[in-house]
Amino acid sequence: MPESLSPAELRCLDRAHVWHPYGPMPGRQEPLVVESASGVRLKLAEPAHGQLELVDGMSSWWSAVHGYNHPVLNEAARGQLDRMSHVMFGGLTHEPAVRLATRLVGITPEPLRHVFLSDSGSVSVEVAVKMCLQYWRSAGRPAKQRLLTWRGGYHGDTWQPMSVCDPEGGMHELWSGVLPRQIFADEPPAGFDAEPDAAYVRHLRELIAEHADRLAAVIVEPVVQGAGGMRFHSPAYLRVLREACDEHDVLLILDEIATGFGRTGKLFAAGHAGISPDVMCVGKALTGGYLTMAATLCTSRVAEGISHGEVPVLAHGPTFMGNPLAAAVACASVDLLLGQDWEQEVKRIGTGLREGLAPATELPGVRDVRVLGAIGVVQLDHEVDMTAATRAAVREGVWLRPFRDLVYTMPPYVTGDEDVARICRAVCAAAREG
Ligand code: PMP
Repeated sequence: MPESLSPAELRCLDRAHVWHPYGPMPGRQEPLVVESASGVRLKLAEPAHGQLELVDGMSSWWSAVHGYNHPVLNEAARGQLDRMSHVMFGGLTHEPAVRLATRLVGITPEPLRHVFLSDSGSVSVEVAVKMCLQYWRSAGRPAKQRLLTWRGGYHGDTWQPMSVCDPEGGMHELWSGVLPRQIFADEPPAGFDAEPDAAYVRHLRELIAEHADRLAAVIVEPVVQGAGGMRFHSPAYLRVLREACDEHDVLLILDEIATGFGRTGKLFAAGHAGISPDVMCVGKALTGGYLTMAATLCTSRVAEGISHGEVPVLAHGPTFMGNPLAAAVACASVDLLLGQDWEQEVKRIGTGLREGLAPATELPGVRDVRVLGAIGVVQLDHEVDMTAATRAAVREGVWLRPFRDLVYTMPPYVTGDEDVARICRAVCAAAREG
């Protein structure tokens, strides 16, 4: 193979061999080739629809909150690379992991004290579920092995997380007959600011009470259901879950993988409800999108429960847990976030999205336009034509990834006002043409 490949060669080899996430068989799609990325811009290897640079409206799937090629994160990665890029984490420890765990315990809700560092959001949910199941086995209540969630959610692409994703019309519907059978409450009524619906509250309470004897945990995405439909709901339902879980001896897992690190306007979305979970998952923006790392945090009650059991260890330890390179960058990313007025930046982006997406309400085929924190969503009354919508956005110089009936954006927090306006124009164009 030649040392450097032309964009055309890259596309050709990509088509021949590379399988992309949620992509069809290799060869059936035509991805754009990215040459580099800096700030909020992706530089393409060749022009697409008249554009060589695209403003990233997706933050690489919620993760690149500080933008790309950030000097502070680059330095953290370089510095750690010179010391140690990886070492097995079983029986050994190191400063980046210790620092990161301590930092996470310091900024997450109070009773969370123990941190398992893994390598992806999906795995952090697997770990969360294992923790809860093992907790109840250790407590001598082995019947408590089921999970309850609400419909319309998304928790990842490995087996246990798949079982608590939206079972109808969701990404894993194909497997609904063979996945572990979980218990589904209805989808929470829409609207972050909506008054809590009394009938829905009753439904949640009754379902938890009815299944308490076999429920290990309730698992939900707080306030924003992301990949399951980009829906926002009232934080009041989280308080209801917390109360019902306490009342019926069920653990509560909050999946903050998408919502964590400020995206909804609070550092963690649980903060909108003022509640603490027993177990919490974070990922995506944890490393500012630089490296693959996620974390599962739990309370002392959960950790001690497991350690007093018949098998007193958490049986989870794939090779790349606690990676020092990722942990060092994660520490730098968290510090970078907290060292600035991130709340103000998220608010500023939210204001820009509200203004810029307002015209979308007038477009034919648009059912709803909603903004929360630094997330903007245009929902259509039909399935979006992904090719046409993506093309419309690229023509405006913006990278978006519309799906189902949604055109949406969650820009990096460093996106300037003019680029936020540009993203909004692209979302409107994608909604019009998609
Ligand atoms: N939970 C939520 C809420 C997510 O949004 C995602 C990723 N889209 C996951 C879990 C899975 O994370 P990962 O893609 O890193 O495995």
